[in-house]
Amino acid sequence: MKRAAIIGSGIGGLGAAIRLAAKGFEVHVFEKNEHPGGKLSQFEVDGFRFDMGPSLFTLPQLVTELFELHGKKASDYLDVVELDMTCNYFFPDGTNLRAWSDRDRFVEEVANAGFEAQVLENYLERQSFLYRFTSNFFLFNSIHKPSTYVGEAGRRSLKALHRLDAFTTMHARNERTFGKTNLTQLFDRYATYNGSDPHRAPATLNMIAHLEHNMGAFFPKNGMYGIVSALVKLAQEVGIAFHYNSKVTGLKLTKDKVEGIFVESEFHPAELVVNDTDIAYFYQHILPKPNMLKRLMRRERSSSALIFYWGVKGSSNLDVHNILFSSDYRAEFEGLFKQKRLANDLTVYIFISKKVVETDAPEGCENWFVMVNAPEHVGQNWEEETARAREIVLKKMEAHLGYSIENQIKNEKVVTPAEIESRTASVHGSLYGHSSNSAFAAFLRHPNFSRRYKNLYFVGGSVHPGGGIPLCLASAKIVDNEIS
Ligand code: FAD
Repeated sequence: MKRAAIIGSGIGGLGAAIRLAAKGFEVHVFEKNEHPGGKLSQFEVDGFRFDMGPSLFTLPQLVTELFELHGKKASDYLDVVELDMTCNYFFPDGTNLRAWSDRDRFVEEVANAGFEAQVLENYLERQSFLYRFTSNFFLFNSIHKPSTYVGEAGRRSLKALHRLDAFTTMHARNERTFGKTNLTQLFDRYATYNGSDPHRAPATLNMIAHLEHNMGAFFPKNGMYGIVSALVKLAQEVGIAFHYNSKVTGLKLTKDKVEGIFVESEFHPAELVVNDTDIAYFYQHILPKPNMLKRLMRRERSSSALIFYWGVKGSSNLDVHNILFSSDYRAEFEGLFKQKRLANDLTVYIFISKKVVETDAPEGCENWFVMVNAPEHVGQNWEEETARAREIVLKKMEAHLGYSIENQIKNEKVVTPAEIESRTASVHGSLYGHSSNSAFAAFLRHPNFSRRYKNLYFVGGSVHPGGGIPLCLASAKIVDNEIS
């Protein structure tokens, strides 16, 4: 039996491990932490459970597929519900707009707020078109292989190239569609789903909205970490071995192949190696290549996050996902990508898993995951930034919700970009590897394979096709297709 070594147990690593096991490999996953999941992790305190990272779950079929590959039913491992409301939006002018999963209901809500329903319908149709014409090419294939361009998916996308909106920005397209209105801000926000700036990211990425508004937003009945638990359970059942507290420190190489990995001085032979760690970290610490690292670090990193996990007394009338928008979105992104500091007004995201998972907080309490987008970690004083952000966030909550929650906070944990970097080895704490702030960013991502070492592959949020749970799982699918 051929052996495969996976470096890192993030969602991309888990996906690759399960796929390779289905191909007949003996799979070993090496993880530096004592638990699996990477950015997808959780913690518990005083009867509260918090998902620490991702909270939005789209394209669940990419998880389901992993079970089917082994002849199992995903629903025996993971119970997923479709949310009624994808997000509850609060705007600076006092408007509250509920984005219902049901498209007709959302369109009606928007029409009731004074917008033209048909304009929104046309916009969502357009995003559906963009997804249909690009996903097979950009998301589920390697764009670094000539064969992809001459294959059916490639030809289809290239034929429609002039309609893919790559040379205008997300914001420009949204403003042209909705004017200077709340809907522009609502749809601009999808740039943050891959850590980018809507004023610079190509309008092709407006298709991210298609996932939630046309395909639905989902949530595991036992919380986001339920995805990791289910995948690890499946992995163990199919014989995948997990090695925790095992930091991979190097590779054994021949001229054109990898012969295995080192965990400090301990050698583990492997016929195939898949890296799931941040690609810049990989070329700095696992396969040191100073020139490659320099090239990668010249590219702009995606944004990071500053998160307050609050155990809150009382029951709010908020939903699972809630957004309190800032009054100057452009200044916020300039803060993130130019000044590299938090702006004076911030968009606040509140995620309350207790709204689905009853046991996630004690009776009469809620678990609030309160996040603001933050710049990559480049040595800022996070103690100061955290104190400033906390004040802004509390004031904004009071303005939008009509009451102060400060005295209702029973316990608090804060995670900064610096901590995200040290916990997950994500360079500068970026959530999604590089940003997508240019029309060419998609093409500049690192391929899913090594051009020199023929049995070395790459998955995860810092390589093609990008960050976020669905794309990391897509990277595993691409690697699966590349291996005969
Ligand atoms: P990672 O999660 O980056 O894991 C890499 C793993 O490699 C880690 O476990 C790390 O410990 C391990 N590792 C590193 N170095 C070594 C080594 N030398 N040896 C062994 N192991 C090593 N995505 C969404 O889809 N929806 C969201 O709502 C969303 N929100 C987010 C909110 C936050 C706060 C964060 C942090 C992320 C969010 N994301 C979201 C992004 C998503 O979490 C990531 O894109 C995805 O989980 C990354 O998976 P990955 O496969 O790249 O691996």
